[in-house]
Amino acid sequence: MRPFHYQHASDRAEALTLAATAPATTQYLAGGTTLVDLMKLDVMRPLTVVDINGLAGEHGEVVLDGQALHLGALARMADVAEHPAVRREFPVIAQSLELAASPQIRNMASLGGNVLQRTRCSYFRDTHWAACNKRAPGSGCAAVAGVNRRLGVLGVSEHCIANYPGDFATALAALVPPWISKALLRAASSLSRIFIACPAIRPISKPRSGLAS
Ligand SMILES: Cc1cc2nc3c(=O)[nH]c(=O)nc-3n(C[C@H](O)[C@H](O)[C@H](O)COP(=O)(O)OP(=O)(O)OC[C@H]3O[C@@H](n4cnc5c(N)ncnc54)[C@H](O)[C@@H]3O)c2cc1C
Ligand code: SF4
Repeated sequence: MRPFHYQHASDRAEALTLAATAPATTQYLAGGTTLVDLMKLDVMRPLTVVDINGLAGEHGEVVLDGQALHLGALARMADVAEHPAVRREFPVIAQSLELAASPQIRNMASLGGNVLQRTRCSYFRDTHWAACNKRAPGSGCAAVAGVNRRLGVLGVSEHCIANYPGDFATALAALVPPWISKALLRAASSLSRIFIACPAIRPISKPRSGLAS
């Protein structure tokens, strides 16, 4: 693992300021279950890591206000999966979270980090393979002729055949109408530059008439 600077943000403004100094080499740290893994593997090499767990009070909420489900980016997978309102009104979200990973990881991992997790393609995670367009854009793709060349079947190209591994986002895609999905994906893609995933995750609207009494 390479040396890096660790900084702690106590509010949103501080988190944004800390990352704005060097956005290309700064990563936010939530549960760390993806980031620390990839840093140990030398796949991600941030020079600065900004711990945003101090914002959990402000951005860790799970609220069903009658019309929309509000999920904070720092809500933990386990807490959302166990939340009575989520289980009752959005069982597909609860199932996507409680069937993922392991109890230990679900206790640590946040929803924001879950949405932003990286591919599990083994060529991406093993830096002995020089060719990986996701890790080093323009370097090629070792997987297309590799042992897992059938990694993905739909939505792939000769540039990358990896699929997205997150179950939660897949559940969201099942819930959200196609016209919202694009906006959601656009918002999600900008999340590595800004720190809060809430705008991407909420509101997942459900018609009031569909709510159980
Ligand atoms: C052994 C194992 C098994 C797994 N199995 C599954 C599975 O079956 N299904 C599944 O869906 N997932 C699975 N995962 C992935 C796991 O769910 C993710 O690692 C986890 O959700 C990431 O959340 P985190 O809070 O730990 O993110 P971190 O590791 O802290 O962050 C991940 C990335 O997101 C960025 N980030 C985090 N929060 C924010 C934010 N609020 N704003 C902007 N950027 C942010 C970080 O900078 C980093 O780049 C597995 C992981 C492991 C290690
Ligand atoms: S499929 Fe190819 S480009 Fe995509 S992550 Fe794997 S090695 Fe990298």
